[in-house]
Amino acid sequence: MTRIVVLGSTNMDLVAYVEKAPQRGETVTGREFRTIPGGKGANQAIAAARAGAGVAMIGAVGNDSFGTRLRSTLEDSRVDTGLLRTAEGPSGTAHIVVDDEGGNAIVVVPGANGTVDHLTPADDHLVASADALLLQLEIPLRAVVAGARAARAHRVRTILTPAPVQPLPPDLLAAVDLLVPNEHEAAALTGRTDPREAALALLDQVPEVVVTLGAAGSLYAARGAEPLTVPAPRVSAVDTTGAGDTFVGALAVALGEGRPVREALTWAAAAAALSVQREGASASMPYRSEIEARYTA
Ligand code: ATP
Repeated sequence: MTRIVVLGSTNMDLVAYVEKAPQRGETVTGREFRTIPGGKGANQAIAAARAGAGVAMIGAVGNDSFGTRLRSTLEDSRVDTGLLRTAEGPSGTAHIVVDDEGGNAIVVVPGANGTVDHLTPADDHLVASADALLLQLEIPLRAVVAGARAARAHRVRTILTPAPVQPLPPDLLAAVDLLVPNEHEAAALTGRTDPREAALALLDQVPEVVVTLGAAGSLYAARGAEPLTVPAPRVSAVDTTGAGDTFVGALAVALGEGRPVREALTWAAAAAALSVQREGASASMPYRSEIEARYTA
C-alpha cells in the first residue's frame, strides 16, 4: 500500500449563507449556517486515504470542540492522527460568508495551525517512512520548509500545493519534486497568464509541474519533455470546493503506485470529477472503488 504523509492544516469552516453580504457596520440575517471540517492539509489527507493509500497527518488541532470533530473526521476516513497534536487554544477556523450570487468573503484565523512551526524527531521518522509528503501553505512557512527538507533527505517525493499563494523561498523550491498550482497560482508565481508558459517558467525551479485547469483538466510539464495536457471528464459540477485537494490526493496515490504520469493524471481527474458532482469539500471525496469505476484509461 502506498504510504503518504501530509504536513498541513486543519480548519473548521464556519459558513453563513446570506442573500447579500453585510457592509462594514451593517448586520444582516442569514438563511443558513454550516460547520464544515476542512483545511487543505486535512482535505488532501482524506482524499489520499479514500483513494487507497495509508495516510498519516502531521499538524495540530485546538483543544476545543472543533478540534475533537476535526480529528474524528480524519479518523473516519482512516487517516492516522497519532502525530496530529492538540494545541492549547482554538482550532483553525475559516469564517465564510456566501451570498446568493455564489460570491464569498473569507477570514481565516490559523489558531492551532500557527503552532505547527517545526518538525519533531517523531515527525521526521514518519516522513522517512512515506512514499510521498504532501505540503500546502496554510501552516507557518518554516515548517513547510523543514518538511520538504526532511523528505528530500530521506529521498521521499515532495508534492507542494502553493496555496494560499505567496512568494516561495528558493530553499523550499529546491526540495520540491512536484509543484501543483491551479492556473491562478501558476500565474501569480510567474507573472504569466498562459498556463503552459507558467509551467515552463516554473521548471526553472522544480523538476515537475502540474497546473490544474478546472473543467479543462490539467497540464503536466517536466524538464526535457514536451508538456502534456490531460482532459477532465465532462460532468455537471454542483460544488467544486475541494476539487484541487481531491486531485492532488489522488494524484499522489497514483504516482506512489507507480502509474505512468498520463495515467496518474487521468485517474486524479476521475477522482476530482466525482467530487465536483457532490456538495461539500472532504464529504464529496470519492473512495477508491468509485474512482476505479469512473476511470477510463
Ligand atoms: P478548488 O479551489 O475548487 O478546490 P482548484 O482551484 O485548486 O480547485 P481546479 O483547477 O479548479 O483547482 O480543479 C482541480 C481539478 O479538479 C481539475 O484539474 C479537474 O481535474 C477537476 N475539476 C475541477 N472543476 C471541474 C469541473 N467543472 N468538471 C470536471 N472536473 C473538474
